[in-house]
Amino acid sequence: MANVTSLKEQVVERFKRLFDDEPTIVVRAPGRVNLIGEHTDYNDGFVLPMAIDRGVWVALQPREDGKVFVYSADFEDGGEFSLNKLEKGTADSWLEYIKGVAAALHDEGKSLTGWEGVVTGNVPIGSGLSSSAALQIAITQAFAAASDFTWEGTPMAKLVQRVENQWMGVQTGIMDQMISANGSAGNALLIDCRSLETTAVPLPERTAVVVLDTMVRRGLVDSKYNERREQCEAAAAVMGVEMLRDVDLYTFLQKQHLLEPLARQRARHVISENERTLLAAIAMQREDSVGLGALMNASHASLRDDFAVSCDELDIFVEIAQRQAGCFGARMTGAGFGGCAVALISAENITQFTTTVTAEYQAATGKKPNVYVCFPTNGAERVM
Ligand code: ADP
Ligand code: MG
Repeated sequence: MANVTSLKEQVVERFKRLFDDEPTIVVRAPGRVNLIGEHTDYNDGFVLPMAIDRGVWVALQPREDGKVFVYSADFEDGGEFSLNKLEKGTADSWLEYIKGVAAALHDEGKSLTGWEGVVTGNVPIGSGLSSSAALQIAITQAFAAASDFTWEGTPMAKLVQRVENQWMGVQTGIMDQMISANGSAGNALLIDCRSLETTAVPLPERTAVVVLDTMVRRGLVDSKYNERREQCEAAAAVMGVEMLRDVDLYTFLQKQHLLEPLARQRARHVISENERTLLAAIAMQREDSVGLGALMNASHASLRDDFAVSCDELDIFVEIAQRQAGCFGARMTGAGFGGCAVALISAENITQFTTTVTAEYQAATGKKPNVYVCFPTNGAERVM
C-alpha cells in the first residue's frame, strides 16, 4: 500500500507550496468496490462492499473569515466560496461537491469554520469506484476537523447521499457513502440499506480482490438506472409490499405469476441477489472462498440475464476472469452498462492473473483495460 503513504506526502507537499505554510489537518476517505449485492441498495436490500486502498486526501488549515479556498491537484484548478452564501453554481464542477457538503452540514445546524486546502486522490474518476463519495466523505471530515464537531460515519453518509441526490442531482443509493465512511481494514461490510446496520466480514485469508475496468463508459447509464428503479418500485407495488426487500425468495416463487414477464425478471434479480448477498457474508465468515466465488458468478448471470444491466465488454471480461487458474468467481460491479468487474482470486495467482486477463481482454475487444488489485481498508479518517 505504498501509494497511500505517498499520497499523504503529496497532498502535504502541495499545500506547503501553495499556501507557504504547514497544513494542520489531513484527512482521507476511500473509494470502494462492491463484492456482491448489486442494484439492491435502492430496494432497501443488502450490499457487501469493501473500502479500497485508493482514496481522496485533503490537507487543510482553518481560516477565520468564513471562506473556503480549495485547490484540486488533480484538475489543477482552484475555487472558493463563502460559508455565508452557499448557493448552487451553474456548472457541475468538482467544487460543487464541496459546496454541497458545506450547505448540507449548514442545514444540519453545524456551525462551520472556513479553511484553505488541497484535494488530491487516486480513485480513478468515473470508473465506478466512487471517487465522488470518497471526495464528499473526505470533505465532511475536513469540515468536522476544522469546525471541531464530532464526526460519525452513518449520519455523514446519509448527509452526503442527500448532496449527491439533491445538490448534484445524481440518483444514487446509500452504499458508496456508507462504505467510504464506515469501512474497516481487512473486512468487507455487510450493509442493511434499510436499517443501515453494518456487519464487518473478513475477506478470506490468502485471497485478493481484483477490479477489472472495461474502459467502457456509456452515456445512457443514468436513464437506464432510473428505469430499473421504477421497474423495481412497480414490481413491489404489484406484490403488495413497500420495497422488493420485503419479499423473500419463497414468497416470490408463490406470487411471481402476478408480474408481467419483464417485471418478474427484474424482481427475481433483486430478490435472489439479496439472498446471495446474505449467503456471501456467511461464506466469508466461514472463510469459504469457493462458496463466495460461486455466489459472485451467479450474481453476474442474474445481472446479465434478469436485470439486463451488463454489456458485451463486461460479459467478456467476466468470462475471461472466471476461467483463470485461481479465480474463485467474478462479476460486474456497480451500476453496469460498462465500468468495472470484480474478481476474487487466490493470492498466489495475482501476477499471473492480472497479466493474462489484461492480454486476453485486449485481444478480445481491442481495448486496453485497467486492472487494480485492491486491499480492504478503513473508512474515512483524520490522519493528521
Ligand atoms: P465516480 O464513479 O468516480 O464516483 P462520478 O462522476 O460520480 O464518478 O464522480 C466524479 C466526480 O467527482 C469528478 O468529476 C469530480 O467532480 C469529483 N471528484 C472525484 N475525485 C476527485 C478528486 N480527486 N479531486 C476533485 N474532484 C474529484
Ligand atoms: Mg459517483
